[in-house]
Amino acid sequence: MKILVINSGSSSLKYQLIDMETESVLAKGNCERIGIDNSNFIYKTPAKTIEKLIDMPNHDVAVSIVLKTLTDSEVGVISSMSEIDGVGHRVVASGEAFKQPSLVTPENMVKMEEIKDLAPLHNPAAIVGVKACLAQMPNTPMVLVFDTGFHFTMPDYAYMYAIDYSHYEKYKIRRYGAHGTSHKFVAQEAAKYLQKDIESLNIITCHLGNGSSITAVKGGKCIDTSMGFTPLAGVAMGTRSGDIDYAAAEYIARKEGMDVSQMLNYLNKRSGMLGVSGVSSDFRDLDEAAKEGNYRADLALNIFAYGTKKYIGAYAAALNGVDCIVFTAGVGENDPGTRSRILANMEYLGVKLDEYKNTHCVRGAISEIQADDSAVKILVIPTNEELVIARETMVVANLA
Ligand code: ADP
Repeated sequence: MKILVINSGSSSLKYQLIDMETESVLAKGNCERIGIDNSNFIYKTPAKTIEKLIDMPNHDVAVSIVLKTLTDSEVGVISSMSEIDGVGHRVVASGEAFKQPSLVTPENMVKMEEIKDLAPLHNPAAIVGVKACLAQMPNTPMVLVFDTGFHFTMPDYAYMYAIDYSHYEKYKIRRYGAHGTSHKFVAQEAAKYLQKDIESLNIITCHLGNGSSITAVKGGKCIDTSMGFTPLAGVAMGTRSGDIDYAAAEYIARKEGMDVSQMLNYLNKRSGMLGVSGVSSDFRDLDEAAKEGNYRADLALNIFAYGTKKYIGAYAAALNGVDCIVFTAGVGENDPGTRSRILANMEYLGVKLDEYKNTHCVRGAISEIQADDSAVKILVIPTNEELVIARETMVVANLA
């Protein structure tokens, strides 16, 4: 059983072919700069890596190059396209139109068109990706898997905003969250690792990367998450402000002569770690600059850590106690300094880090980093969003 996972961006298409018997990656890669000059094709198998410039004027061409390479007699990993049993497509935003992963059908594609503007950069790209795959593999079952899917178990008082209720009814304005496949994966991995029934666990999952979100998971189900209607909400991020007093945004816009869309661009692209530090949005650069005594880089890291700490505290209250805190994604998995800043002085909650374990995690493996006398387990778990998409595809397409 082999599942192809497709993650389409407006000018990119990431792919992974996964053998579901072993849950191992047969091949993966990226088509970059689709529709732009110098399009780049990357293809990796356990045996070799190919990277070359190929003209990819649109996603149809990109998909056909991916399929041709996967079935190539020399570098391919399958002998024909018929070996691909299903295709899972990552979709960023679902609104309330899709509360579950869903089969690609003509009706569902109409619904996809209707929710395009919930993620204007990402959702249209997903539609293009689905159509490109359908054109090449019309008889292969395909499934839409949404980043928001895991969060639909939140109770109404957690997902509703305190605004005019008619705007929820009319426009479905509410908290949807993001990174759902990642939060789901690491929560399940944590339970497996701890050899506990997930039903019995209160877990706080911290997906910390360029974009960051924190989720409270009770009995395997999301009960709250830090991102909101869009990924702009929650903790400060690489270039996003996270939560801010809207009146402050309006004040800056007025003073600097920005309209609403310019202000949103400012909050999404020019704020966060980049805005505060003036150095970079990348935590590696910030760690380096902070070590060299750069005050604003150090401040940015402290704002991020303090914001994350406050979410952990809030979710410990929402969950009525926490058994396990999980760190994942680029920063969560690889930045011991940031984990240390977040978890300092949390003994009151039963959270105590072991600094030696924290700095000696094995990359790519699950690491346990709490002190022996910590009541709460602290785990670093590599995320695998593609595998979750592939698993959901198997279930929804009845391939399991
Ligand atoms: P995205 O949200 O784009 O998926 P990732 O989860 O890939 O982000 O995380 C990317 C971020 O991870 C980078 O911006 C970088 O700040 C951070 N990162 C990656 N490796 C390290 C490292 N060794 N130390 C500190 N930060 C790291």
